[in-house]
Amino acid sequence: MSSGYIGRFAPSPSGRLHFGSIVAAIASYCDAKANDGKWLVRIEDVDGSRTVDGAANDILRTLESYGMHWDGDVVWQNQRVHHYEEVIQDLISRGEAFDCACTRKELAGHKLYPGYCRNGMLEGKEGRSVRFLTPVEDLVWDDLILGEQFSRGGTESDFIIKRADGYYAYHLAVVLDDAEAGMTRIVRGEDLLASTPAHLHLQHALGYKRPEYAHFGLALNSDGSKLSKANKAVPVEVDEAPMVIAQALEFLGQKAVSLDSPENMLLQAVSNWKL
Ligand code: GLU
Repeated sequence: MSSGYIGRFAPSPSGRLHFGSIVAAIASYCDAKANDGKWLVRIEDVDGSRTVDGAANDILRTLESYGMHWDGDVVWQNQRVHHYEEVIQDLISRGEAFDCACTRKELAGHKLYPGYCRNGMLEGKEGRSVRFLTPVEDLVWDDLILGEQFSRGGTESDFIIKRADGYYAYHLAVVLDDAEAGMTRIVRGEDLLASTPAHLHLQHALGYKRPEYAHFGLALNSDGSKLSKANKAVPVEVDEAPMVIAQALEFLGQKAVSLDSPENMLLQAVSNWKL
């Protein structure tokens, strides 16, 4: 019996999984299973310019060999672009998004979007990107790990939902996909905390229910930089799964489990799990 909890792991296929991404996978997996929930996997390949051939399949194989078996079918963002477009057109027709002709050069030096196209583009200009007309409202929400969070109105300043290169923006895709899959709790790394206000604004505009959020601390390199595919964090190997799982659980501050098969280690981790 499922409890109604639906959670997910949503990797971008820009490279193989590294320690930081395994931590994210394990945190979301154990939290879902500890709550008798479903754990879904979504491949965030909406930004085709960052997609690396073979990475998505490698990620899925690695998850399986690390004992994390997902519920339902894997969702691929690049199969959902027609839907992203429909929602954008709907937002535009309701006056909640607008075409923007501004080039990077025209916006140089502005930390926040100066609103040049907010009330329509200058004559003769053509839309390059689409921006969400972000309400200037303070946001307060509760993070299950970090506690109360606050974002001052105006900080998001009409963020882009469709990019000038034609790709749909992460903020849009993630909000639509999470809402339509009925996610009840998002467990992810603190690097995405800063994206949360944009997601809350979009959820509100689209009438979606707000999921719970839990952001855990990030695994860092010894120089303090974030472990990421971009800075060539070492990928995890299939044959080292028990060691990596033990280290990831330790990193997440969970009770130690004995070295065993990945499935058995995760069973132990789930039964001891504390967010
Ligand atoms: N695709 C994002 C990443 O790999 C994660 C998005 C999310 O969890 O909201 O960093």
